[in-house]
Order: sequence, then structure tokens, then C-alpha cells
Amino acid sequence: MWTRRRFIQAALASGLGACVPVLGGCSREPSVGAIRDALAALRSQQVRPPSVAGYVEFRGVVHAHSNLSHDSTGTPQEVLEAARLNRLDFLVVTDHYTPRIFTEGLEGRQGAVLVVRGVEIALGCTRGGALTRRCASVLAVGLREPLVPGANEQWDWDALFQSIQRQGALSIIAHPRGMMNSSYFRYADGMEIYDIADTVRDRLVDVPRFLLDFAVDYADSRDEIVLPLIVERSGWNLAEWDRFTKTRRFIGLAGNDAHQNLRAFGRYADPYALSFKAVNTHVLAASETAESLKAFAPGLTTEKLVAALRAGRAFAAFNLLADATGFRFAAHAGDGGAVIAVLGDEVPMQAGLTLVAQSPVPGLFELLRDGVPIRRREGRELRHRVDRTGVYRVEVSLKVVDRWRPWIFANPIYVRA
Ligand SMILES: [Zn+2]
Repeated sequence: MWTRRRFIQAALASGLGACVPVLGGCSREPSVGAIRDALAALRSQQVRPPSVAGYVEFRGVVHAHSNLSHDSTGTPQEVLEAARLNRLDFLVVTDHYTPRIFTEGLEGRQGAVLVVRGVEIALGCTRGGALTRRCASVLAVGLREPLVPGANEQWDWDALFQSIQRQGALSIIAHPRGMMNSSYFRYADGMEIYDIADTVRDRLVDVPRFLLDFAVDYADSRDEIVLPLIVERSGWNLAEWDRFTKTRRFIGLAGNDAHQNLRAFGRYADPYALSFKAVNTHVLAASETAESLKAFAPGLTTEKLVAALRAGRAFAAFNLLADATGFRFAAHAGDGGAVIAVLGDEVPMQAGLTLVAQSPVPGLFELLRDGVPIRRREGRELRHRVDRTGVYRVEVSLKVVDRWRPWIFANPIYVRA
């Protein structure tokens, strides 16, 4: 949650003093032109792998605020326009909790985009000063009815998580590093493995350069300017995620935390159109429709989306780099055998079990088992014959000019005894 004032405070606090190399500030980044050329070259190699039978892929955004939140001024029209521009299939709006969400909030099908009702409820903050304190929250995704706070408008956390669950909605921990009482993770269905606002905050030393580029050369090069600032691996979140998935399915999602509330030099530094493009959540929803009828298949519904997320059939992708639609991660019965599990699924250990990840753009695959990288491969595909139980997940990076930049984070396939 970033207010304009906090953002500017932070930028000033890091200031020019941060350009001291030892602090890592003002680190060398390739030119805007070099990044643009590299992205164009990557995108020209796009070839989508064949889709997995029985599933339809949808692409959207989780964690966005409108003017029902105290820290956003975005109108519903602005939110929808940005969703339309980015051709999103779904958008989970998560305004800070107010009962008005249930009477005035966006919901349901709005043209081509399905708007799913969610809320964000603060779960308290860690100790520390304004710049070091972190505040966690829970995103309730797919909420049907208002939640009822206890006495003095205070939430009883146990009751809160239970009522989210009773409504069939998902509890996703946002800004998880701000969680004071980590025992609440046990109630949650998943967590943010990335959040744009958290990432910018972690990279305060780079903000002055961003503002400088922003002032000079923004209109034509917005994506290339923003990319080095926000396309980052969130190591802490990923390590925690790997810890939780060891014992149970725990969904990892990217949070856009879109606010459109940071104005500098007379324009928004964080317009919805940019936030919605930067990182997307892709889900595989079960299709009940025969392949031949796909063109007539009914679109996504809130129930289908929540079910797909709950099952962990999702991956996060920085589509600012390239469109990750078509990425697949599945378990096959033997090399070249039938698909027996997709990302998010649990599958029993068996002879011949082979994991196959395929990317629409050539990249660097990294396969992790129980949080430990066990295999790296460059190209369009990674295959791995499974020889032991474990939680297997895949990350894909793309080479942009001088370095591999994170691109895709897939939910795991759980190989159980
Ligand atoms: Zn938020």
C-alpha cells in the first residue's frame, strides 16, 4: 500500500546519496533502446506450445484498487479501460474493506473482462520506522457477502479467516513480509510471491533514476524504463513459499497492487494500463466443452476462476517482457506419455514419471525440488525424469540485453509417496 506521500518521501530519502556504487544504487542498466530491441527480438520468436487438453487458459490481474479505497482515485471506468487495453480475461479488484464494495464495487462480466470481487484487509505491521515497517494483509478473493468486524470495528482474525472460507472465497496473504504473527499463514490458501509495490519499495535506491527517466523520456519508453525497476525475483517470498508447499498445497500468486495514485511531473507514474501489463496471473480453468466447440465455450466465471486458483493451476508472468500465454508445466506417464497432472496437482510417485515444461519463447528454465534448484536448461523445453518425491516447480528467465531477467513462476506439481 503506497501513498503518493510515502513514495515521494522514499524517493527523497534514498536521494542522490544512493548513487554510491557500494550501496548498489544507480546500478548500470542497459539503454532504453537496447532493452526495446532485445524485447522485440524475443517476441519475434513466440511459438505457443500445444495447449493441455481439458483446460482453457485465462490471463488476468489479482490485487487492484479503485476509488473505493482511501489510497486510490481510479474510477471504475479507468480500471475497466485499462483491463480492456491489456485484453485481460479477469480482474480481481481488492479494495480496502468497506461495505460499499458490495453496493458500489465493480463485479461480474464487464464486456470481455470478468471482474471478481475481492477485498484487502490489513493484518498489522512489523515494528520499525516509516521506511522499514512492513504491513501485511489478506486478500479475500471471490467474496459474496460483507464481512462483519467485531466490537469497535476491530477484526477478530480467526473469525475473519473462517468467514472468508465459509463464503467459498480464497485467502491470499499479501505483502507477506509484513506478517507479524506468522501463525496466520496456516489459515491462508496462498500468498503473494511477488508484489509490485513491495518490489519498488525494496529498490528505493533506484527510484531517483526512475524519476529522472520518467521526467525526460516517458511517453514512448514507459515499459523499458519501468522494467529494470520492477522485474525482479522476490527471494524472501519464494523461499517462504517453498517452505509452506513442503507440507501442503499453497498457492503462489503475483500481486499487481495497482492504485494509480503516484503523480509526478503532472502524470501518473503507475497508471492502471502499466500495472496491468507488468505482471499477470495465468490460470488453467477446467473446460467442460468439447474441443470442437471451444469457439462457443462460455467464458470464465468467478466459480471457475476461484476453483482454478484454489487448485494452484496458475503461473505468474512478467508480460512486460513477452506474453507468456501458452507456457505449460505437466507431468507425463513416461517420456512422451499422456499428461497425468498439471501445475498445482498432486501426483503419486511412479516409475517413468516425467515432468515437462515448455515455453512460448526460448529462455532459461530452472527446475526446483523442495526449493532447491536441481536442473537448468536453456531453450524452449525442459524434461526431467522424476526419481524421488518432492515439490517441483519451474521458473523461466529471459535474456534481456545483458542478463537473465525473471519471467515465469509456475505453481508446483506435488509428487507424493
Ligand atoms: Zn493493496
